[in-house]
Amino acid sequence: MPIEFKLPEHVENQTNLSKMLAVQVMRKISRHYDEHEHERPWEYINVIWPFMQQIEAADLKRSMRRNGGNGSKPKEGKKRPSTANVRLLHMIEALSWGDAGIYLDTPSSALAGAAINAVGTPEQKERFLKRFTEGEPKWGAMAITEPQAGSDTSAIQATATLDPETNEWVLNGEKIFVTSGSLAGKESPGIIVVWATLDRSLGRAGMRSFVVEAGTPGMTITKQEEKLGIRASDTVSIVFEDCRIPYDNILGSAELVKPDEKKTKGFKGAMKTFDASRPMVAASAVGIARAAFEFTRDKLAEQGITIPEYAPHHQLSAIQCDLIQMEMELKAAWLLTIRSAALMDAKQPNSIEASMCKVKAGKAVTAITQKCVELLGPLGYSREFLVEKWMRDAKINDIFEGTGQINTLIVARRILGYSRRELK
Ligand SMILES: Cc1cc2nc3c(=O)[nH]c(=O)nc-3n(C[C@H](O)[C@H](O)[C@H](O)COP(=O)(O)OP(=O)(O)OC[C@H]3O[C@@H](n4cnc5c(N)ncnc54)[C@H](O)[C@@H]3O)c2cc1C
Repeated sequence: MPIEFKLPEHVENQTNLSKMLAVQVMRKISRHYDEHEHERPWEYINVIWPFMQQIEAADLKRSMRRNGGNGSKPKEGKKRPSTANVRLLHMIEALSWGDAGIYLDTPSSALAGAAINAVGTPEQKERFLKRFTEGEPKWGAMAITEPQAGSDTSAIQATATLDPETNEWVLNGEKIFVTSGSLAGKESPGIIVVWATLDRSLGRAGMRSFVVEAGTPGMTITKQEEKLGIRASDTVSIVFEDCRIPYDNILGSAELVKPDEKKTKGFKGAMKTFDASRPMVAASAVGIARAAFEFTRDKLAEQGITIPEYAPHHQLSAIQCDLIQMEMELKAAWLLTIRSAALMDAKQPNSIEASMCKVKAGKAVTAITQKCVELLGPLGYSREFLVEKWMRDAKINDIFEGTGQINTLIVARRILGYSRRELK
């Protein structure tokens, strides 16, 4: 694939808009929502919603055209290469530079949309995603994690049972740490994609995802988390007690195959979602890292510490070396992240790149923000500035959508050609 570093004009325009929003809206309210964790940033939500509706509408149109859904024919012949994912990642990076927690409150189909796009039918895309193109702000969320199932998603205990009399799925179980869970579950006509098992004895092969509409009886938000970082974001626990949803809300096929047939379709659906969502987390990590790096670089410059353009390594001070190292990590993480998005845009497999960029960016952002606090001393530690907050906001990027260790394992398995059983 040719390497093109110049952004198309429409990507640049949207990125500039996100940067403006980051400076003029997000940075100004950043500390407030860090200190008022369970308030939602409506001044941001209301401003960004019209843009998100346009993005959702374009994504839906593209997805329907690709599938030949909505009565339209799949497009044939030479097409302009898509830039949708590269554009999205630039937007996420810029907004996370503004505030990563507030960015997570962005009204959109989010992970629910990624899951539906990965395994949903054209009818499901239309039914569940059209709402994000109109009306009041709405959110999507995805609930996989349970008290007994985190990294090992195949250990989920939540069940989905078919009631043959009503032809409804009945969900039971508990989900924890659901991002945007209360926004999607009760604030608006949002949706939550819930992972459950049809048959525990089948392990991964028994897993499926289901779309649950906000306000469905039997779905209860039981806890709002209090967190170390990204405190502006909404994170909740949800209990499903005999929660009934229509049969057609299952994503993908309900047909079960035995594990010895080596087909784990349901689980593969989750993995496909991660291929799209991991680069998004990496982009957010890069945004936070860039915020901390730029602030530190500028503060040090005020003290006369700058990076000379041409200087042999032995003439550099330790602080200058640190700054160069940080910039290098930041750029390496960003390039890997963009590559994973460009592959997605080119409709090429990107699983390994998605895990790679997630590992790299997760580690880069934690190391860079800690180093910034260290280099700035009291300025870094004081709540007068946002550096201490960026250090707290950083860590989650090495945890959700697969921890650093898990994504490293995934990369190692793929490079070395080992199965899950062979390399645990
Ligand atoms: C703020 C926040 C938001 C979240 N949002 C969502 C969401 O929207 N939806 C959702 O479903 N989940 C969400 N999560 C959950 C998140 O995805 C999980 O926390 C994550 O997958 C890790 O699972 P765990 O916490 O159970 O850790 P565990 O799986 O218990 O792991 C604990 C530690 O052991 C390590 N470890 C585990 N297995 C291995 C191994 N085989 N080799 C090496 N090391 C290993 C892990 O890397 C980790 O460091 C969120 C979590 C947080 C904190």
